[in-house]
Amino acid sequence: MSDPVIVGGGLAGGAAAALLAAAGRRPLVLEREREPKDKICGEFLSTEAQAHLAALGLDLARLGGAPIGGVRMVAGGRSVERPLPFRALGLTRKRLDEALLEHAGALGAQVRRGVSARAVGEGRLETSEGALTAPRLLLASGKHDVRGARREPSAGTLRGMVGFKSYFRLEPRQAAALAGFVEVVLFDGGYAGLQPVEDGLANLCLVIRQGAFEALGKTWPALQARLVDEPHLARRLEGAQAVSPRPLTVADIPYGHVHRGGGPDGLYRLGDQAAVIPSFSGDGMAIALHSARLAAQAVLQGAGAGAYHRRLADDVGRQIRLAVWLQRRAEGWPGRHAAVGALGLVPAALPRLAAWTRVPEAALRRAGLGVA
Ligand SMILES: Cc1cc2nc3c(=O)[nH]c(=O)nc-3n(C[C@H](O)[C@H](O)[C@H](O)COP(=O)(O)OP(=O)(O)OC[C@H]3O[C@@H](n4cnc5c(N)ncnc54)[C@H](O)[C@@H]3O)c2cc1C
Repeated sequence: MSDPVIVGGGLAGGAAAALLAAAGRRPLVLEREREPKDKICGEFLSTEAQAHLAALGLDLARLGGAPIGGVRMVAGGRSVERPLPFRALGLTRKRLDEALLEHAGALGAQVRRGVSARAVGEGRLETSEGALTAPRLLLASGKHDVRGARREPSAGTLRGMVGFKSYFRLEPRQAAALAGFVEVVLFDGGYAGLQPVEDGLANLCLVIRQGAFEALGKTWPALQARLVDEPHLARRLEGAQAVSPRPLTVADIPYGHVHRGGGPDGLYRLGDQAAVIPSFSGDGMAIALHSARLAAQAVLQGAGAGAYHRRLADDVGRQIRLAVWLQRRAEGWPGRHAAVGALGLVPAALPRLAAWTRVPEAALRRAGLGVA
């Protein structure tokens, strides 16, 4: 049986490569970037994501992320603080994805960097370095669609959100106040997450409705000025140094998309190619890793892509729908204030919400994973 080809060496691609290599296969990973790069992501690593990475044999402690034990939800002048029901980590994707890809290589995966997939055909792949036969293709290109295999957003997908991510070095007093927390600031048309990552940096990641961004004049300085209209962000960012002049951006994130099958039986979609959960849930990476595990198991058992996609949709569809519903509600003023109010009044609301918007423990166990 020929070895699978994996397009994309992000979390989903790297994890699938590591699993297949550990099982004695020699998957070929094509990653278009020659060097490790920053990625647009809040970089909140949930307990499920950590369990997946640990099960792959990745030593997360060595990577030095920032521990996160609590959440602060802020809307207007109101803020509520709760402990998280698990210990999360703030870890840059540049460091994490690279470590995972190296790990997959050390296990025996063939990793080719600087090679782009250009088009997917029946059992074939066009790349920047020529054509390949690929009877089993694992498409893990994240937000980027490849010609011949574009995602058809599923019903209920929430369109028109734009994402931004930037690093800041906060003033010492603000960095100390942020330490150990992820802060979610809800504002008209979107929300921002602020949290520490390794090396003393803070990750500011936000999503905003395309229309709201256009109304601001579609520039980063104007958006930053809008953000500091929020008193909480004004305080945190006062005197902060931006690490790069411009943020990373992504347009039209298809939140809520779940691929439910269809397409060739040798084409397995992984990560964001298969399912996209609203970012506030902090579980996108766990879903990407979960998809990698299920896809690798399907390939090793000789199961087709259809069965794999149905299983993934069963495992993650419900919480993605709920997260989309919550995101829609939080867009309006009453929903935002109700969300913060409910967390303030009902201490059990946060653990419940966290449980409902995560990959269920039963699905993790079925995939052969234990979660603390
Ligand atoms: C604004 C925002 C904030 C988020 N915050 C969080 C968070 O805090 N916590 C969390 O768990 N999740 C978060 N997520 C979700 C998370 O980032 C994604 O779910 C996750 O990155 C998906 O991993 P992936 O491997 O599918 O894709 P990616 O990580 O995007 O990897 C895809 C890889 O494929 C490569 N590639 C692309 N096209 C090609 C090609 N044609 N040929 C070869 N290589 C190619 C890319 O270079 C990249 O390395 C967030 C998402 C957004 C948009």
